[in-house]
Amino acid sequence: MSARPRIDLHTHSTASDGTLSPAELVRAAAESGLDVVAITDHDTTAGWAPALRALPAGLSLVRGAEISCRWYGEEPPVPLHLLAYLFDPDAPELVAELARVRAAREERGERIVALLRADGIDVNWPEILAGAAGGSVGRPHIAQALIRAGLVATTTEAFGPDWLGERYRLPKEDIDVFHAVRLVRAAGGVPVFAHPRATRRGRIVPDALIADLAAVGLAGLEADHEDHSPAERAHVRALAGELGLLVTGSSDFHGTHKTVRLGAFTTDPEAYERIIAEASGVTGIASG
Ligand code: AMP
Ligand code: FE
Ligand code: FE
Ligand code: ZN
Repeated sequence: MSARPRIDLHTHSTASDGTLSPAELVRAAAESGLDVVAITDHDTTAGWAPALRALPAGLSLVRGAEISCRWYGEEPPVPLHLLAYLFDPDAPELVAELARVRAAREERGERIVALLRADGIDVNWPEILAGAAGGSVGRPHIAQALIRAGLVATTTEAFGPDWLGERYRLPKEDIDVFHAVRLVRAAGGVPVFAHPRATRRGRIVPDALIADLAAVGLAGLEADHEDHSPAERAHVRALAGELGLLVTGSSDFHGTHKTVRLGAFTTDPEAYERIIAEASGVTGIASG
C-alpha cells in the first residue's frame, strides 16, 4: 500500500446501475491507482462474490451496498440513500428488506414504462429489464432505453424534468431510514448517509433528521461527492464534526452511466479505519 492510501468507498457495477461488471470494476479500480474500493450496488450484495474472485493483487475490497431509504417525516416522504459497509449478507431481516426493495424497483420501473407508453413513447419493459441483466433495475436502465429510442441524448437529459426527473418520476417502496440504520447495525454493518446535501438530485432532509439518525446508529456522512457544491461539502463536514460522525468522500462511479471517474473523490485513511473498527458483519477486509 502506498504511503497515503487512495480509498474510494462508493461505486456501482452491473449488479445495479453501473456499466462495468464486478470483476471489471475491481480491475479498473486497481488500474486507476486505488488501494481500497468499496462495491456499493443499489439494494444488493450480488456483486460481492464476483468482485472478490477477480480482486487484483494489492487492492482491498470493502463489501457494501447503497440502500434505498425513505424519510416519512414529510409529505410526500423524502427518498435518501444509505451506504452500508461490511454487514452480514445473510442477516435475515436485512436480506428480506433488500429483496422487497428490488421487487419494488421492478414494479415501479414497469409503471414508469406504462406511463411513457400511454404517451406514445416507444419503450418496452421486457427489453429494459433484460438490459439490467438480473441486477437491481433502476431509472438509469430506463434512461438507456430513452437514449436508444433517440428521445434524449444523455443520461443527464433523461433525468431532466420532462422525463425521469419529474414528469415520469414515480416513488418506489423504500425502507424507512430509521429501520434501515438499525437493520444495518444489527447485521454488524456500518451505515453512512450518501450525498446528504445533493440538492441537484431533488429534495434533501433537514440537519435535525441527521442528528436523530446519529442517535440511532448512523456512523458517518459522505461529504466529498460530485453532487455536492464546495459549500455543501463544507456544511456536511461541519455537521459531522458537531455530531461526532465520520466523513467519507467517494466517486459514486457508475461506468458510462455517469462521467465521474474512479477515485475522483476519496476517503481519509482515518475514517476508513474507523469503519473497519466498527464493523462486525463480514470478517476482515478482502485483499487481492
Ligand atoms: P433509482 O434508484 O431507480 O431511483 O434511480 C436513481 C439512480 O439514478 C441514482 O442512483 C443514479 O445512478 C442515477 N441518477 C439520479 N439522478 C441522476 C442524474 N441527474 N443524472 C444521472 N443519473 C442520475
Ligand atoms: Fe445509481
Ligand atoms: Fe446514491
Ligand atoms: Zn451510488
